Amino acid sequence: MQSKFRLLQKMTATVIAALLVMGSMPAVAFASTISDKQEEIADLEKQQQDLQDKISGIDSDIEDEEAKQEAYLQEMSNVREQIELYDDQIGDVNTDIEDLESQISELNDQIDELNDEIEDTNEEIEVKQEEIAQKQAELEEADQKFKDRLSAMYMSSGSLSILNVILGADSFSDYLSQAQALENISDNDQALMDELEECKAELQALEDELETYKTDLEDSKEEVESKKSEVEDVKAEQEDKKAELETLQSEQQSKADELDSLQAESEALVESLNSDKSDAEADIAQIEADIAAAEAVIEQAIQNSQNSGSSGGSTDNGSSDGSSSSDGSSGSGSSSGSTSSSGWAFPLASYSYISTYYGVSDAWHTTHTHAGVDFAAASGTSIYATRGGTVVLAGWNGGYGYCVMINHGDGMYSLYAHCSSLAVSYGQSVSQGQTIAYVGSTGNSTGPHLHFEIRNGSSTVNPLNYIPV
Ligand SMILES: [Zn+2]
Repeated sequence: MQSKFRLLQKMTATVIAALLVMGSMPAVAFASTISDKQEEIADLEKQQQDLQDKISGIDSDIEDEEAKQEAYLQEMSNVREQIELYDDQIGDVNTDIEDLESQISELNDQIDELNDEIEDTNEEIEVKQEEIAQKQAELEEADQKFKDRLSAMYMSSGSLSILNVILGADSFSDYLSQAQALENISDNDQALMDELEECKAELQALEDELETYKTDLEDSKEEVESKKSEVEDVKAEQEDKKAELETLQSEQQSKADELDSLQAESEALVESLNSDKSDAEADIAQIEADIAAAEAVIEQAIQNSQNSGSSGGSTDNGSSDGSSSSDGSSGSGSSSGSTSSSGWAFPLASYSYISTYYGVSDAWHTTHTHAGVDFAAASGTSIYATRGGTVVLAGWNGGYGYCVMINHGDGMYSLYAHCSSLAVSYGQSVSQGQTIAYVGSTGNSTGPHLHFEIRNGSSTVNPLNYIPV
């Protein structure tokens, strides 16, 4: 598009130079239209470049964000792996803790058993001690009985000592009998005493054995308790380890949450950047259409100047005061909706009168004849496409003000000038009767009216020969 524009610039420079040499009024006006359009194009191209730069900036921002998102995803994958690893480790530790708890429970059972055993043994020891005390009492009783018997025996013999008993015997046989009795008594008692002592010693041995057994039990219990304490220490260690792992895992979880939120933020930003980019691209499309429209105006102006000398594409003055109506007619009417037999529709919803006819020269049109027909009409009145076609110009066009030109495709064009606003844009297809603009007084105009032209190629023709009036 730009190279085409450069070529256009070269062409127009030559034409403008030639026309300026002629020094004619329309040439000056023509040159001013061209230079206005060139300025407009340059300005549009600058805007286009700015928008392209903006899009490049946005693209680079989007690339940055996408790189960030990739990094977030990578980090997220690492964090999730770490969380899973901690899950496995915590699971292992939990298994260990369960094992240790079952060991502790077993050890507690053992301790309970040992305690029962120790209690039983204590009871047995008490029984043995009672039995020993019993035997001791029996021993003492037997001893006392023996002493009592001896004492009674000596008392009855009248003497207080064994010697006296022996020496006091009446006869040797008496002595023998007495000594024998004494010995018998002594032997019997001694046997009884010995038996009791033996029994007591046996009980004492049993008690000692029980005491040893009890000590063994207590040693065992101490051992089991020490083992239990060791296991409890290991369990406490594992519980510390588990708490530590859970802290680390929760840290990773926070990191994952943070990454999630960063990712969402970045995605929202990219969405907004893409929307900005779409807006800029739409603006560029509009600018391209505007440039094409301006180029079409320049091309048309050049064609007109080459083909019809001073008649086409120049400024135009519509008169709405009625004084310039060439034939004095002030016919008014509304022909909207009607179409001539040749297929051309009336271009207005309504109008008051024809203020200037085609081909006239008057106060306003001294240097060239009027290229179209002026319909005086209220500002804002709808302007219709006289036939279907493609919009080849929709925008400001020097003295024509806001202007629409339609290419009907068979070498025929229609043009609508001095509009207050436009309802179509460059390149748009329109159908017959479609509203394309509204009556106004823009450009070289003294009041609201429609300047309507029909062109056959680059030559203008009288529109009243085509449209129904
Ligand atoms: Zn006019």
